[in-house]
Amino acid sequence: MAKYVFVTGGVSSSLGKGIIAASLAKLLQSRGYRVTIQKFDPYINVDPGTLNPYEHGECYVTEDGAETDLDLGHYERFLNTFTSQANNVTTGRIYQTVINKERKGAYLGKTVQVVPHITNEIKRRMLELGNTGKYDIVITEIGGTIGDIESLPFVEAIRQLQWELPEDDTVVIHLTLIPYLKAAKELKTKPTQHSVKMLSQEGVSPYIIVCRTERPLSPDIKRKIAQFCNVKQEAVIESIDMATIYEVPMAMLREKLDIICLKKLNIINPPEPDLVKWEAFLERLNHPKSVVRIGLIGKYIELQDAYKSILEAFIHAGAVNECKVEVVNVHSEYITPENVEEKLSGLDGLLVASGFGLRGIEGKITAVKYARENGLPFFGICLGMQMAVIEYARNILGKKCANSTEMDEKTPDPVIDLMEEQKVISDKGGTMRLGAYDCALLPDSLAHKIYGQELISERHRHRWEFNNKYLEEFQNGGMVLSGKNPKSGLVEIVELPDHPFFIGVQYHPELKSTVENPHPIFVQFISAAVSHASTNKVDEKNTANVND
Ligand code: GLN
Repeated sequence: MAKYVFVTGGVSSSLGKGIIAASLAKLLQSRGYRVTIQKFDPYINVDPGTLNPYEHGECYVTEDGAETDLDLGHYERFLNTFTSQANNVTTGRIYQTVINKERKGAYLGKTVQVVPHITNEIKRRMLELGNTGKYDIVITEIGGTIGDIESLPFVEAIRQLQWELPEDDTVVIHLTLIPYLKAAKELKTKPTQHSVKMLSQEGVSPYIIVCRTERPLSPDIKRKIAQFCNVKQEAVIESIDMATIYEVPMAMLREKLDIICLKKLNIINPPEPDLVKWEAFLERLNHPKSVVRIGLIGKYIELQDAYKSILEAFIHAGAVNECKVEVVNVHSEYITPENVEEKLSGLDGLLVASGFGLRGIEGKITAVKYARENGLPFFGICLGMQMAVIEYARNILGKKCANSTEMDEKTPDPVIDLMEEQKVISDKGGTMRLGAYDCALLPDSLAHKIYGQELISERHRHRWEFNNKYLEEFQNGGMVLSGKNPKSGLVEIVELPDHPFFIGVQYHPELKSTVENPHPIFVQFISAAVSHASTNKVDEKNTANVND
């Protein structure tokens, strides 16, 4: 039988519930427990796949092709295990299930209501992963903030489960904010008290309160929070701002979050945590020997969460290379042939990110051209790979008007075209080519060297593809198509052999990079950037000598 940990949030959004949940899961996993994390989101979209990144950050795709909340990315990066569709549930999905059942007549004669029908469906899904027998502990994170109208049914479901399950099978953790008022020179506990009160009014009392704070909590403050929120003092956990999210598990270990949680679940004398790999990663992360500057070319760069997995993959790959990766955000909309040199010349590598639609794409193509012509390490992801193909067609193969039919339906050279199976699809939700597909690598190609194997599997999220009508022209023209889907022949990887490092991939490698398994393309890209940086330095030195 699995045990259940629920994580709710109060006072403010963006306090890092996902990181706290992932950190706790990491600690429990390090003590030998089989753990998974799921996220329940109170919005009506059936999944976040139809949300603009400005609304909700990156859409994270799982192996089984679910479009999910970006917190699932944290779960995978921390735990080094896969999540699936079952790990992310929204209000929309709950209602969709209940309404479909109603139409089939499953509740014939009954009035279908939030309680019990919606709450029953929430409870069923909350227990679903635990019932598989694969996990000892299931952590459920509830999106949103306590007090929001839309999160009420989720809290009610937790209340009912706490009543239904044995007392030592559940524990509720509430994450809040303890603001510091500069004028009063004081940390304030009142918002936390109010938030816990609201949660209690909804029928759920937290056993643990994790307090997000900029300053250390004194024993007095902890005592006050404990007394007014009705928890044990040891269950008031300080979560002070950390330099990196990867330090949070260690901070939670020091605060004994896992031990207190296990105690409530009646798991006494747990094994000691084995965090050797994690600590080795932190050691390398915190002691870089060099710095590289990587340009991230995208159109959502104002919002860091839009490229979350890419940024995290850089951190993993930087640690392997013992190098700090400084990401320079470059807005693709503002890159022009006139200013590209000025914008990109100081960089050691260029990553052109994924995206949809026309906005900013000419800037991306201009950036690819600059990287190709100047020997700047280049890594294109999804739309970034498609832009590399278009750039090559236009500037090397002489197809001046080559384009993707996503941007120009009437292009005379649709080198990127809508996939055949997509042509009959009109619904937008969950209909892209999603999830893991195999890819066979060309022997002796850069991709083959990077992966060190011939068959790989990576995750996808796209509707357009390399148009195989142009296959020979590209090959004859010098572009190596080094990865293909073994069944459909869909081109997955393009590369340029006469370039220090130039690779574009149709899939999303960033989704599979974890602390313990940094993604090999990111690792080699950063390594190429390190070489580029050191050559640049030598060049600068030589020029300086000449000038002397
Ligand atoms: N818009 C492109 C497509 O659908 C690329 C998608 C992406 O970058 N994820 O094929």
